[in-house]
Amino acid sequence: MPRSNHRLIVLDPALCEASGPREETDRFHDACGVFGIIGHPEAANMTYLGLHALQHRGQESAGIVTSDGEHLYAHRAMGLVHDAFNSSQLARLPGALAIGHVRYSTAGSSHIKNAQPLAVDYAHGSLAVCHNGNLTNAEEVREELEARGSIFTSDSDTEVLVHLVATSREESLEDRVADALSHVQGAYSLLFLTEDTMIAVRDPMGIRPLCLGRLATNAKDAFVVASEPCAFDLIGATFVRDIDPGEMVIFNPTGVRSVRPMGRAEEHACIFEYIYFARPDSKLGGRSVYEVRKALGRRLAIEHPVDADVVIPVPDSGVPAAIGYAGERKLPFETGLIRSHYVGRTFIEPQESIRHFGVRLKLNPVESILRGKSVVIIDDSIVRGTTSRKIVKMVRNAGAREVHLRISSPPTEWPCYYGINTPTRRELIASSHSVDEISRYVTADSLGYLSLEGMLVAIGGKSAFCHACFSGQYAIAFTPSNKRQMRLVGV
Ligand code: AMP
Repeated sequence: MPRSNHRLIVLDPALCEASGPREETDRFHDACGVFGIIGHPEAANMTYLGLHALQHRGQESAGIVTSDGEHLYAHRAMGLVHDAFNSSQLARLPGALAIGHVRYSTAGSSHIKNAQPLAVDYAHGSLAVCHNGNLTNAEEVREELEARGSIFTSDSDTEVLVHLVATSREESLEDRVADALSHVQGAYSLLFLTEDTMIAVRDPMGIRPLCLGRLATNAKDAFVVASEPCAFDLIGATFVRDIDPGEMVIFNPTGVRSVRPMGRAEEHACIFEYIYFARPDSKLGGRSVYEVRKALGRRLAIEHPVDADVVIPVPDSGVPAAIGYAGERKLPFETGLIRSHYVGRTFIEPQESIRHFGVRLKLNPVESILRGKSVVIIDDSIVRGTTSRKIVKMVRNAGAREVHLRISSPPTEWPCYYGINTPTRRELIASSHSVDEISRYVTADSLGYLSLEGMLVAIGGKSAFCHACFSGQYAIAFTPSNKRQMRLVGV
């Protein structure tokens, strides 16, 4: 096949560096946000804004690849969206098509080589891809590809998709992507971009979210795709619908088509998106994340009531659940902890020392609310327990008479390997400690977690969820390769 004249123009030469030593744990956690747009004269600017709205999904790196119909243009950098792009870099990303990505931070893999979208030139032209999720058999597929001569430049499981698309014998892009996906398992919400086409795909179980919107322009409407609809609000786009599990939507100059080459498996939407990860102003699977969190709080109040003086949330993620808890118990709701909005999520800091420091940096108690009171603190989850312990001590030191901790999800006992960044099983305090032991560790007067049944009742609806982090019921069977992944995450 003759090589096309299309060319990928990379604005970030650091990506050309050698990939360096591979780290075993690198290829796990790809909790991220993706955004794509087609048919808009300011595609790069719109994507920049869309990524801003998805910043909570990843703070390690940000990237945009655009197409002007002839060439792809890429810029990726470490840090927040705001730091990764300036106006001159955005101006050098021309065209009406764009995809963008924000990536979550994980220990050991913080490197520009893993920033997305990945973009390459190959026999059929240029191709970019960005991914939210985690391919559970990436290791196995990568080894096969390497044995056949493929050379990898990143640690990211997403790169196997680039090689699979490039080496596919299918003719059309759509068939090559479908062929590539037939070799992989796991969680994926993906965006592919070529010179004139954008493809959005959601894995057959619909583990990670992905939704479709429309944006009016002076000419035809532009189509937008994002991990969460809160990205549409910022750019004035309207939400059309969730992309279905197993659906592939192809956007090109001839229009929009939807195909389902992978079939549809039983739905397993990630329940943790509702509990913690998604923004509360997003709607996922037809449910308002904010309302779900309030319902979780109401249910928690029924399961674990306390006759306290005041209910306070751990901001921001505990706020709607605390409102629900306080409403159900008819107790006053107060913001007894004030959050500084100028620091990132503390959990994300890779080093233990920084994480400890981070809690103080982020939260400060309001003494007038807490002194002499019996306080219920509401948080969405306990991971290692270190944050909760600091918070309980902080509230007590501010004069609280009693401190009761209530968690709006069940104990997090199992690591996620479908794209939420969780530590190894050993580090998850609930995997090896009873509720009483955790209560003592965090120095609370009492501790109550929402039950698994209670969580499902509160979320409601008919959809089936992945709740492996709470139940250990993993949706994907362990093949020899993902058993290896499980070993690496310490199961
Ligand atoms: P820990 O000190 O490890 O128990 O951290 C608990 C805090 O981390 C809670 O306030 C949660 O809101 C937050 N959290 C839970 N899961 C995650 C996650 N995957 N990434 C970042 N933060 C998280």
